[in-house]
Amino acid sequence: MTIASELKGEYGVALLHDPLLNKGTSFTEAERDMLGLRGLLPPKVTTMEQQSARVINNVRRQPTDLDKYSYLISLQERNATLFYRIVVDHLFELMPIIYTPTVGLACQKYALIFRRPQGLFISYRDKGRIAQALRNWPNDDVRMIVVTDGERILGLGDLGACGMGIPVGKLSLYTACAGVAPSQCLPVMLDVGTNNKALREDPLYIGVGEERLRGPAYDEFVHEFVEAVQEVFPKACIQFEDFGNTNAFRLLHKYRDKVCTFNDDIQGTAGVTLAGLIASLRLTGGTLADKKFLFLGAGEAGVGIADLIVRALMAEGVSEAVARQQCWLVDSQGLVVKSRTDLAEHKIPYAHDHAPVPDLLAAVEALKPTALVGVSGQPQTFTEPIVKAMGRINERPVILALSNPTSKAECTAEQAYTWTDGRAIFASGSPFPPFELNGKTHVSGQGNNSYVFPGVGLGVIASSARHVTEEMFFVAAKTLASLVTEDDLKTGCLYPDLQRIREVSSHIAAAVVENAIETGLAGIPRPRDLLAHVRRHMWEPKYKDYV
Ligand code: NAD
Repeated sequence: MTIASELKGEYGVALLHDPLLNKGTSFTEAERDMLGLRGLLPPKVTTMEQQSARVINNVRRQPTDLDKYSYLISLQERNATLFYRIVVDHLFELMPIIYTPTVGLACQKYALIFRRPQGLFISYRDKGRIAQALRNWPNDDVRMIVVTDGERILGLGDLGACGMGIPVGKLSLYTACAGVAPSQCLPVMLDVGTNNKALREDPLYIGVGEERLRGPAYDEFVHEFVEAVQEVFPKACIQFEDFGNTNAFRLLHKYRDKVCTFNDDIQGTAGVTLAGLIASLRLTGGTLADKKFLFLGAGEAGVGIADLIVRALMAEGVSEAVARQQCWLVDSQGLVVKSRTDLAEHKIPYAHDHAPVPDLLAAVEALKPTALVGVSGQPQTFTEPIVKAMGRINERPVILALSNPTSKAECTAEQAYTWTDGRAIFASGSPFPPFELNGKTHVSGQGNNSYVFPGVGLGVIASSARHVTEEMFFVAAKTLASLVTEDDLKTGCLYPDLQRIREVSSHIAAAVVENAIETGLAGIPRPRDLLAHVRRHMWEPKYKDYV
């Protein structure tokens, strides 16, 4: 006798409505009998391969990327295993749909396409009851939480509660790219209102239609959330995502040494960018210590990357003061220099002694950087004169246009290659197709933190690390750079082929586990084989047999 014989009729329906258990038409004859499914499904039992073929065909028939997104999300809500099978098998094709750039569009239209909550919406009206809200989540073993307050969604600004698409998308990548089990993932939207007037006035807006909470009331609300997570999901790591930059830096500094947390915009971006810069040395020659980095954008991404470069330079024996001198930032008011009186605290370590410089072109001419990093969210700001100047100053200029989504990229791949006669070493935050110039095909890499955060998160889970440190992102960057092959570099690509992402993530995770053990932060003894240990934690999108 099995549990199945005790099942009531509703169980079959409940099973079909549970995305983590549902197999759709793949339930076998025996399962249909045992689980109360007889008659609830069309008679033909199909294999997962047949289901996958049908689904990818349906995805491709959708007229727009947003339709593809909606189709895939409804599949995820119905049958998560099949969703991840499709995404893993067609990652290169589908990542731009479930993540940047399409997820940006999806957030902008979130109120229209919203069907089912895929995570928790916790509004400040829930203050005092946040632990209760967390307990309403159906899965107990939550290990990775991605939380946003929707204030700075990609480069699109304040999208309030519609920013929920980002935690959902990021956690999909944790599962697809690193095998973190979907049942261990929890997307959270902290709804503190929005300063986006158009949203507030939109009758279809799904969030709290009031101005953003600020000051001590905001801090208390976030604090209650962080404490509630410790109480309800004590093994969970909290990834702060797409917060506005005053809150992002403050919250990171407040919590990084107290709970298991990191900020992907600051630290994950830094990891992937440093990896690209390390890989670029194999094309340019030299070491990081003899390079100069100029950033357009002095926010979370810019300062986060600069901080990690400083750490990498210090590991090469450069003093902190000299290392900082190699990183220069330009913000909307021009070059960040000491004499400026308008600088936010996070920019001050990079405010060097220099005469004021009004714009990026003048800064390129004055500083002669070897690499230009775009993290401003301002499209087409790497203009032809700027890119050409980089090409004049450097034999192989490194140009990273990292702003997302594609519509916000500082320049396109085509522009970077054309304006430098194909000499640019280029990567972008959102993908660009390969570009052919004078008979040579240039494949630009996607300098996107999705190469780093899934592996770091998996490593944190697999080591039960108490904290997530800067050094973990440094080892992640070195590991990622070491996985770039000569073939990748030959086409100009600074990152490994996306199809290898699960392998890449497992290596990053193993490096993070090793680091956690060495630094005394791990909650486990040292495993004999780090990689095998990590792989045992990786969930595979395969159906389980119920009978
Ligand atoms: P942020 O708001 O913290 O910082 C933006 C910075 O750009 C600010 O310093 C601002 O002063 C500056 N800026 C704005 N307008 C400018 C102008 N006209 N000229 C020069 N500087 C200007 O945002 P962030 O988190 O740093 O993100 C910035 C961009 O980077 C976004 O588009 C985001 O999508 C992208 N990003 C990409 C990745 C990736 O993995 N590729 C990761 C994180 C962020």
